[in-house]
Amino acid sequence: MSNDFQALVLNQQDGKTTAAVQSLTQQDLPEGDVLVQVDYSSINYKDAMAVTGTGKIIRQFPMVPGIDSAGTVIESSNPRYQAGDAVVLTGWGVGERHWGGLAQRQRVKADWLVPLPKGMSLLTAMTMGTAGLTAMLCVMALQDAGVASGPVLVSGATGGVGSVAVAVLARLGYSVSALSQRPDASRAYLTQLGATDVIGGPEWSEKPSPLGTQRWAGAVDVVGGTTLARLLSETQYGGAVAACGLAGGVGLETTVMPFILRGVRLLGVDSVMCPTERRLLAWQRLSTECPNVEGLGLQRVVGLSEVLAISQEMMAGRAHGRVVVDVNR
Ligand code: NDP
Repeated sequence: MSNDFQALVLNQQDGKTTAAVQSLTQQDLPEGDVLVQVDYSSINYKDAMAVTGTGKIIRQFPMVPGIDSAGTVIESSNPRYQAGDAVVLTGWGVGERHWGGLAQRQRVKADWLVPLPKGMSLLTAMTMGTAGLTAMLCVMALQDAGVASGPVLVSGATGGVGSVAVAVLARLGYSVSALSQRPDASRAYLTQLGATDVIGGPEWSEKPSPLGTQRWAGAVDVVGGTTLARLLSETQYGGAVAACGLAGGVGLETTVMPFILRGVRLLGVDSVMCPTERRLLAWQRLSTECPNVEGLGLQRVVGLSEVLAISQEMMAGRAHGRVVVDVNR
């Protein structure tokens, strides 16, 4: 096996981030106890921010981005993994502080890996990726909070987390309303994923009244800001909202009224540092309860050289669904 491999490398020039596919050698890789041959990575919102130099995702250059990867172990000094094992990695600061998955090889800590779930392909694992894991963690948070049925809402529905959340919740039998900034343009796509209703409108960017009409038993929110405030005011008595994103802003202007008069719960969801036990459960549930989601057309597969252009598309709000990167294409 050749020592050389291709990777997307981020650098800084005159304070601006540059991104280029480069040839590296295994000696260039950072320390870690497992060397992985990567098959697929993906592009999440955070990757798009890193690649375009938006925000301060990367603080140390050169950096190989890619918070997700799926591949096969080449060598391991950790007894938990052997050469030939299929593995998945999401989060833990990989692709931010440690070289990530947008490369044909990766050296990582065994603690960051999970075995590829039984019955799941490497391609499906990256169709899910951080987005799918986060979507399932949101569903698990809602179920733990007692949201077993009823109308649920998913915001930012055409995005990565939103698309998988719609597909997963629909497969689990919930009646799913998909909230999108472009409801007409995205109706066909979201209906195909399983949404029963596609909604949107200017009211979602306006400050809501403290208590609105009770519409939702639960919600998965990736948008934050006024969208999250409205969701809280429209959640039914005893319902819950799982909040995992900030696509529409980091602020949250709300009142205590939904909490103290309706017992509404606001559930924070993080996938990056999520403990391994819960991660394993989420991956297992994705594999057994939501098979064949890539047949729904929620994913497109691109090569390493296309990552920059798609990241720019994503930052401009023009991308939809999940973008899987075949790093060997
Ligand atoms: P995407 O870019 O794929 O999707 C975001 C979606 O949000 C868009 O497709 C759009 O959907 C909607 N949106 C974008 N901008 C706005 C806006 N200004 N106002 C309202 N809606 C907007 O990103 P991901 O799905 O990868 O991530 C979504 C969010 O979740 C991000 O904020 C990300 O940082 C966060 N996240 C958090 C994780 C965690 O562990 N907590 C893990 C993964 C992601 P539409 O056009 O349909 O409205």
